[in-house]
Order: sequence, then structure tokens, then C-alpha cells
Amino acid sequence: MLLKEIKTIYHRELDALYSKEEVVSFFYIAIQHYLNLERFVLAMRPNLVISKKEEQPLFETLAQLKVHRPIQYIIGETHFMELDFVVNEAVLIPRPETEDLVRWVIEDVRSVKCEILQKNKQAKTSLNGPAAVQILDIGTGSGCIAVALAKNLPNTKVFALDVSSHALEVARTNAIRNGASVTFITADILSLKELEVPINVIVSNPPYVRESEKREMEPNVLDHEPGLALFVPDDDPLLFYKKIVQFAENNLAKRGSLFLEINQYLGEETKSLFNAAIWTGVQLRKDMYGNDRMVSATLK
Ligand code: GLN
Repeated sequence: MLLKEIKTIYHRELDALYSKEEVVSFFYIAIQHYLNLERFVLAMRPNLVISKKEEQPLFETLAQLKVHRPIQYIIGETHFMELDFVVNEAVLIPRPETEDLVRWVIEDVRSVKCEILQKNKQAKTSLNGPAAVQILDIGTGSGCIAVALAKNLPNTKVFALDVSSHALEVARTNAIRNGASVTFITADILSLKELEVPINVIVSNPPYVRESEKREMEPNVLDHEPGLALFVPDDDPLLFYKKIVQFAENNLAKRGSLFLEINQYLGEETKSLFNAAIWTGVQLRKDMYGNDRMVSATLK
């Protein structure tokens, strides 16, 4: 069959369910992934014919897109912070907003390290020296935050925990795949009291979508991504944030920092969890779409 005919079939079958741009993007992701063909192939070779065997994964992908399965789960991978990650239904698909959170942590850890260096030029601590900063990612899921931090901050030690052993399997695969050193821990933050390691930075993207917000969500998220990683009860939407702030107060080293991705509608409420007697520099930041999306604070 002509490759361009398959593109036409994608539009015929999917245009009612997705925007035209999304359908085009699904088609190109599929031909790149299964046939190793670049985006411009149809412009260069409009009459390219592909074999029955080559058609098969493209039609299988189409069938799954029709039931709203996310393309990242279909092909089993995605990109985050310019790294490749394996994903499946046990983990949330990394979002671009979360890259902003990771960049904020990287900036902060680098500037704190420079400060330490400047204050004590004789110190053994150097940017290439032993790990001076220990980081903990709570609810790591695919491991995208932990792995991206370990790759970008080579002289830190990164720990990551999750309640789901299936998620941790994916996260471990991602650490290996990216050559990142991350120590994984199976634990439920809702009942975890302490960790036996000193932690300087805690980062988390916990579940924050209220049950009542399900109405605004697309079926690809609602029917396929793990509810465990997404939803919180309407009557206690900051459940995880209360727990994490308390955990941070009890486990962070002096002057340690906490970075959280948050529900865009609960920015001020989340900020108010930080007691002024304990925390300083509480900051709310927006994501690239202009929504309140992250909070950071430092222990006094
Ligand atoms: N940003 C995600 C979404 O909109 C939610 C992530 C989370 O609950 N931590 O689907």
C-alpha cells in the first residue's frame, strides 16, 4: 500500500476524535518508531510503497488510538528533558510542565553549590567532588524527575520513592537506560515517618487532580493513565502536600529546600501549608501556559 494512503486512513478514522494536527503527529510518530522513516519522507517520496508487514504496526497503532490509548503507551516511550524514557500504564506520561520544575531544582542546586564553593574556597567540596547534595523524589513514577536530576547534577546523590512496585520497575529501567545512578525505595509517603539518609532537597509531583476535575479531562488521560498517580478526594485535595511538607520538616537538613508541582487552582492554599516560623522564601511559579504550577520553600 502507498504510505500516503495510510495517512489518509488515519485522518478518516481519527479526525473526529482528535485535532488534525494531533492526527498528523501520531502518524509521523508511528512511521518514525516502526519504520524509521523521517517526517519529510512523504514530501521526498510521495509514492513510497510499504509492505504488508510494515503496514501492520501502523494499523495496530490506529486501532489503539481509536480507543484513546496515548501514543506514548502504544510505542512504549517518550522524551523528557532531552532524555528517552520507557512508559507504560503503571506510570504517568511525563508532562512538559514538569520539565520546568526540574529546571528550577537544577538552577537552585547549582547556585547553592556555587555559594558553598565561594564561601569556602579551601573546602574539599567542589563541583566535581563527592556528592554534597542528597536529593529525594517522592512519587517518582516513571523516574523522569529523579533520572533527569541525576543526569544534570552529576555530583549529587538521588533517591526516589514510590508506593507502586510496577512504577518502580519502569523507573529502574529508565535509570539504567539513561546511565543515571538513582537509589529506589518502595514506600508510601502517607505512612513514611523518616528516611535514614540526610536529605538536602525534596522534590515531588504527587497526585493533585480532584475527582470533580475529571469532567475537564480527556479520555486518553482518564481511561488510560494510572488514577493512583493522579487523583485526590475533593474533600482533602492537599492530602499529599500536607504529608510531604510535614515529612520535609522532619527530614530535611538545615537550609534544605522543597520543590512541588501543584494543582493550578490551589496555588495559594498550597503556599499556606508552609508555616512562616519554619520556612522561608516560599515561592509560587507559573508554568509555560501561565498557570500556577509549582511551589518551592527553604527550611529556616
Ligand atoms: N498534570 C497532570 C495532569 O494534568 C497531573 C499530575 C499529577 O496529578 N501529579 O494530568
